[in-house]
Amino acid sequence: MIRVCPSCGAKNRVPPSRLHKHPKCGRCGEPLVFDAPVEVGEAEFDALVSEASIPVLVDFWAPWCGPCRAVAPELARLAKEKAGKVLVAKVNTDQAPRVARRFDITGIPALLLFRNGNVVERVSGAMPAAAIAQRFGL
Ligand SMILES: [Zn+2]
Repeated sequence: MIRVCPSCGAKNRVPPSRLHKHPKCGRCGEPLVFDAPVEVGEAEFDALVSEASIPVLVDFWAPWCGPCRAVAPELARLAKEKAGKVLVAKVNTDQAPRVARRFDITGIPALLLFRNGNVVERVSGAMPAAAIAQRFGL
């Protein structure tokens, strides 16, 4: 995953397997905090959820879905509050239909929590950040 350093603007490549190690910017040493949802495509999906060293909460969404737009700021809040503890990822089901099919996504938004590549919990529908955290035990 590429993370732009908030301090110096350098692009850093952070392997998902090092997410728990408090990654720092290679140029200036500033901590690289994944405190916002990251977009994940079909090509990166499997590697991310299987290699990530922290749980990954995946939001399956689409641009035309109203409840998805409603839950987006809640997920952004959760990503900020739980940075370093959980990675919030977003999968656009229009662009990644095969991933959506593999995980039986029939309605969106659908939130799936992955640990070590396995789905450990899933819920459908929009809800506030606090309710999401409680539902997934984050
Ligand atoms: Zn930097």
